Amino acid sequence: MTPVLVVNSGSSSFKYQLIDMDAEHVLASGLVERIGEANGHSSHTVFAAAAEPGVAMPTFTEATSSRELPIPDHTAGFAAMLEAFDAHGPSLDDAPPVAVGHRVVHGGARFFEPTLITPLVEINIDELSVLAPLHNPPNLAGIRAARKAFPGVPHVAVFDTAFHQTLEPAAYTYAIDSEIAAAHRIRRYGFHGTSHKYVSEAAAAFLGRDLASLRQIVFHLGNGASVAAIDGGRSIDTSMGLTPLEGLVMGTRSGDIDPAVLLHLSRRAGMSTDELDDLLNKRSGLLGLAGSNDLRDIRAAIERGEERALLAFEVYVHRLRAYAGAYLAQLGGADVISFTAGVGENAPRVRAEALSTLGFAGVEVDPARNEARERGIRIISTDASSVTVLVVPTDEELEIARQSLQVARS
Ligand code: AMP
Repeated sequence: MTPVLVVNSGSSSFKYQLIDMDAEHVLASGLVERIGEANGHSSHTVFAAAAEPGVAMPTFTEATSSRELPIPDHTAGFAAMLEAFDAHGPSLDDAPPVAVGHRVVHGGARFFEPTLITPLVEINIDELSVLAPLHNPPNLAGIRAARKAFPGVPHVAVFDTAFHQTLEPAAYTYAIDSEIAAAHRIRRYGFHGTSHKYVSEAAAAFLGRDLASLRQIVFHLGNGASVAAIDGGRSIDTSMGLTPLEGLVMGTRSGDIDPAVLLHLSRRAGMSTDELDDLLNKRSGLLGLAGSNDLRDIRAAIERGEERALLAFEVYVHRLRAYAGAYLAQLGGADVISFTAGVGENAPRVRAEALSTLGFAGVEVDPARNEARERGIRIISTDASSVTVLVVPTDEELEIARQSLQVARS
């Protein structure tokens, strides 16, 4: 057994998974939330392999336990997590983690690969908080608390931006005054890199193709959404930029917008910087257009005949098509197009509409395959399609665990 603990830490909560890397199977997962409050909450799920007589593959049973308790800070949160392991298993004394992997949102231009966490790396992550004020500080709080809870174990930072560090200057440079850009490190960094890497590699493995030979477009469509153009396993373009606000229409974020809209709202509506931040990040996207950030609600509202829901869906799809076309042009055609995350894995109509005009580029989605409610990685294009279209369930935790184990062993 080779257990690796993966931690994804936010400001008032963190999620964790303990994965046995021999079988790449989740042993336990949990959520510690309402950190900083008197009535914190922790839940812990244990997955146990149950061998069934006559069945070669074990099936996995699960049991969840939860607790209410005060959780003043991340250190107390990790104490609650350790208590849950003690009480419900699996025992971390019998099989301690060989590495702890941490999701870190912003690695700037400094971190281009998973990195063993040292005091100097912590200082760098802290310093990069300028670029990600909402994400890096809680990521760091999680790292510091986890290092106290697991002092003898290598801790590894896996950055959301790292996979996109292969972008050429032409793709990552914004056309603004270069001195101002340099002084404030303004450029496109890209996010969801762990997912784009995992999905593009899983797609190549599934198809039995050499990653280095493939031109791929990956649509990561969740509550946050981004698309990446990947040439031979290297990201060459991606829709998110300095922050995860640029690009596609998302659950609550606007994605691409004329920057002059901000100037206009500032001058004409007297909106402050914080109000504009809140507008574009939390009150826009599907929520701003149709009153819900969840595509399932939008679909139900369309069925009820709500026009604003139909418009929201059409704006969402229009943007997907624009990026599909742009990335086909950047790559000079594509071999594989993949859809992943909540919307990408579960919304056949979005997939069909996003690619419906791409017949000229050899993209042909098979309606029955696209609608089939199968789980796991699968082909949804026709046999005649010259571009293979896939649905690939993403697994960012497993990717973080793989990269962390590799660093811990090197
Ligand atoms: P994620 O951020 O990857 O967890 O994705 C969450 C989003 O996926 C939700 O806000 C929904 O918009 C979308 N989603 C989840 N399940 C479905 C589904 N069955 N059909 C359509 N959209 C879904």
